[in-house]
Order: sequence, then structure tokens, then C-alpha cells
Amino acid sequence: MTSFPTHSATVDPVLPFITPPYTNESLFLPRRSRHVPPEVWQIFPTDIPEHWHEFAKDKGYEIVRRVRDKNHIVLECQTCGGMTAHKVYTLRSTKPECATCQYDRTIETAKAARLIFLGYHPTNRHLGVFRAPCGHELIRQFEFVERCARGDACPRCEACHAAKEQEEATTRGWNLIGPDPQNDPSYRLYRHICGQEQRVARANMQTGRFCCEECGEGWSSAPSYIYAMRFVFPDGTQVVKLGFSRDPQSRLHYQLKRSAGAKSAGTNSSEIDGDLLRQVPMQSGHLALCVEKRLHAEIKRTYPGAALPVERFDTWLRVKSEIYVAELEPVILAMLRRLHGDARDLD
Ligand SMILES: [Zn+2]
Ligand SMILES: [Zn+2]
Ligand SMILES: [Zn+2]
Repeated sequence: MTSFPTHSATVDPVLPFITPPYTNESLFLPRRSRHVPPEVWQIFPTDIPEHWHEFAKDKGYEIVRRVRDKNHIVLECQTCGGMTAHKVYTLRSTKPECATCQYDRTIETAKAARLIFLGYHPTNRHLGVFRAPCGHELIRQFEFVERCARGDACPRCEACHAAKEQEEATTRGWNLIGPDPQNDPSYRLYRHICGQEQRVARANMQTGRFCCEECGEGWSSAPSYIYAMRFVFPDGTQVVKLGFSRDPQSRLHYQLKRSAGAKSAGTNSSEIDGDLLRQVPMQSGHLALCVEKRLHAEIKRTYPGAALPVERFDTWLRVKSEIYVAELEPVILAMLRRLHGDARDLD
């Protein structure tokens, strides 16, 4: 998931150089020596054996002085003029890397990726700390920054991007909670003001072409239905649900019943019997929402004890309220018949 912070920049970036006490020039250090404090890199006052100079020249360096102890020297890069402390052993056995050249390359690559290089990650050598154009700090793999510099990737700031996505959600009455639980990169998990949490494609959040599966708000210009459904739970409890949806069949089959073992071991959706008893078309989702609220209010007034407490059904159904005792089924069906007559009158 890309738009939620994976590496939040809370580390102190490490710079590749120090200023030793005896000089004001920068002494670059190889990665493994960067924890060694400046005062350790004192001049080691001993002669440099003649043949060491030959080694150095062959490898593109000049030996400036001995430092720290008998095993360390300062090499001046013949390409960039930078000074890097190395082990004598490194000079003898391989081609030492110029930490100045490497640092310059990293800065240039970052610049090409529109980033400012702030320093190396203190513990992970593959990561660097960068400042994005928005001002936020980003921790990224060097390899990724190289791809950005080539134009093959984009160093998007998670903080800014998450704020932008949150704003998109806020304007529609939703809260961005996190990445898609099903790992689809085009989806996110959101919470509606009614409390409903659901996956929504970000593109749909931007255009508003979706509905809250709980309260039905959203995409309110599309036609919708008021419906009554009967459920029989595995323990034999029969209940009736009154609600509205753009697609009651899909709501019944794919959204309401909990999937196998989701809440309680030994129960699954295949044991929950569900039937769509009746559906009445409404001109819009908004109208359906208003009508549905009116019906629930009417039931509450007339049959105050008919709504089941959530503990009685949330093992089996993915809803939080408005499930009624089976005895209310004929009452609800009569309401829908009446509503159907009203709906026809509107035509
Ligand atoms: Zn160099
Ligand atoms: Zn930012
Ligand atoms: Zn809602």
C-alpha cells in the first residue's frame, strides 16, 4: 500500500564526514567508520613508508597523512580532491572508495529526483533521508531514488498524499482509515459518519459514485429500493430486516451475511438463510433514505420493543441496528405494500 506511511522520517540522518580537531577541512569516513567520533581521528605522527605512495597513486589517490593509529591513513581523491580516511589494509588489498565522490553522486541523483539528500540512514545502508519539495522528510531506498532520477518512479510524499486523500473523503462525510484490507491498491478503507466502515475505490470516493452500505447515503441520484428481508440464523432465530439499497439482491448475497468463521467459530454464511421478501423502487437513494428513516421511526413509536439488540445478530449479520423480531414481518410487509401504492401514485 503506497499512500500510507511506510518509512516515516523519524531518524537522524548520518553525514559521511566529520571535521577533525586539528583542521577545518572535512574528512570523509567509510560507512562502517561513521560512528567513530571526530576526536579519535587525531594525526598519528609516524612516517609513511615510501612504497605506500605507489599503491595510492595506482588507485587514484594520494596519501595525505596517517591518522588514528598505525592502521589508518587519509587519502586524497585525484578526481574530486576530497579526503577519505581508510585502513592501510584497504589501500593494499582493494581499490578504496572515495566517500566524497559517492556523496556527490548521491546528492546529484537526489537533485535529479527533485529531492534534497539529508544523509544516510543510521542503520540501513540501503536507505537515505531526503527532503521532498513539500518540505517533508522521506526515507527512501537509494535504488528507488535512482529510478526517480531516471523518471521511472516518483518519490511521492505519503504525508501530503494521505492529507489529500483524507480531504477527498472528508468532503463526502467519510474518514480515511487505512489501506484496503484486501490489498487492492486502488481501494482504501473508510469510515462513514454513520459509523459504517467499508472498502471504497479511491476513484469512486473522488467522484462520489458509491453508497454507504449501512445508511445508504451517497450516489443519491441513482434509483434505489426499500426492502424487507427475512433471516434465519443457525440457532433457529428468525428476524426481519428493513432497509434500502440500490441493489437489494447483491446486498443480501454479498454484503449482509458474515463470511465463514468471521466472528464466531463454527458458524458460517452458508448456514444463514436469507430471503428478499419484497422491494419497492424509489426514484433516488436520497428519497429511499428519507422514507426508510421515516419507517424506522414509525416502528419505534408503534412497536418500541421490536428492535433486537446488536448482540443478538452481529455474529451473523454485518449490520449494527434495525433488525426486528420475526413477529414484525407482517407489519413491515404491510408498510411496504402501502409504500408501493404511494410510489405508484407518484408516477
Ligand atoms: Zn572523489
Ligand atoms: Zn509532503
Ligand atoms: Zn453511512
